[in-house]
Amino acid sequence: MNFIPYSKPVLEDEEIQEVVETLKSGWLTTGPKVAQFEADFKSFVGSDYALAVNSATSGLHLALEALGVGQGDKVITTVHTFTATAEVIRYLGAEPLFADIEGDSYNIDPEIVAELLKNNANVKAIMPVHYAGQAANMTRLIELAKQYDVKIVEDAAHALPSTHNGQMVGTIGDITVYSFYANKTITTGEGGMVVTNNKELAERVKVMRLHGINRDVFDRFTSKKPNWYYEVVAPGFKYNMMDMCGALGIHQLRKANRFQEIRESIATRYSDAFVTLPVTTPQISNPSDTHAWHIYVIQLKLDEISISRDEFIEKMSDFGVGTSVHYIPLHRMPYWRDNYHLNNEMFPKSSFISDRIVSLPNFASMTDEEVERVIEVVSIILNKYQKA
Ligand SMILES: *Cc1c(COP(=O)(O)O)cnc(C)c1O
Repeated sequence: MNFIPYSKPVLEDEEIQEVVETLKSGWLTTGPKVAQFEADFKSFVGSDYALAVNSATSGLHLALEALGVGQGDKVITTVHTFTATAEVIRYLGAEPLFADIEGDSYNIDPEIVAELLKNNANVKAIMPVHYAGQAANMTRLIELAKQYDVKIVEDAAHALPSTHNGQMVGTIGDITVYSFYANKTITTGEGGMVVTNNKELAERVKVMRLHGINRDVFDRFTSKKPNWYYEVVAPGFKYNMMDMCGALGIHQLRKANRFQEIRESIATRYSDAFVTLPVTTPQISNPSDTHAWHIYVIQLKLDEISISRDEFIEKMSDFGVGTSVHYIPLHRMPYWRDNYHLNNEMFPKSSFISDRIVSLPNFASMTDEEVERVIEVVSIILNKYQKA
């Protein structure tokens, strides 16, 4: 039997042809493919600006930088995320303030955010993560951001496409950042996109993603300066996207809705099949919203079974099914735990969930047989180890 991976990128002939064409064109770095990908992305999301970068991590860094986050500032985020969300706060010398999550959505708990805002000065921004592709409670977070005059940077690494109350993620907070890492909902190998409706923020991101170079400083119509001329206005970064990646992105984006529909139908099949098993299936906050279903996460009911989560994962692998854990939370990572004096008691929901969650295979090229086999394997293991 073939091993079913937890995740697999879905690249088809169009992507391959576009990359070959790019290679033959002689233009490898940021160029026409990236420009087209940005234009397409902007209209897909419905935002005013879309700026391609070489990773979501770079994009999150640029987003906070554009907001002026720096030494002495604080940024609120969730512990239940990948370290990239929080590390960019440290890149700028600012300090993270960590919030626990909601027990059902696994998204940042806005009422804990409210507490942190009340008890801390110098908070500059809130960084929610749309966990698994289900939008965080943006309505409440926006309300809090207005009340305390802070900005919102959304980590939308899982959230293409997702909506909150019918509104597309990417058009809600101040800046939103997507990831096109190999296992994300669409991929450019490595890549990311910064999206905003704010002209000043977009201009700053654009300048800082490429060495702080500004080519728009002079008036295009009156200036006599030749096109080799540019000005360096800040010590920027090298975060631009290559045209080979843009070439992939153009075609991946056209498939984003199809891929989402497939992942959603797999998720529905899983949840229907698991109703009688000792697991909690994903809880949907708002059924009318689009859930990107980047990951499908079950929570084992440990008091009803005689194996641990880690043993469950091992048995899944023995049966040829790959899984993952999203996430080992940041309060259990040595750097964050030790430097910020974090412990399990401070984050009861994330701690409880982290001991019990497993992400199952859910990617757009999964066959019916593969989905059936995952269901079968999960059922066999949980039935076998269910307590009487
Ligand atoms: C993947 C991921 C990132 C980082 O994305 P890169 O494009 O690899 O930098 C950040 N946050 C979350 C929640 C992610 O899943």
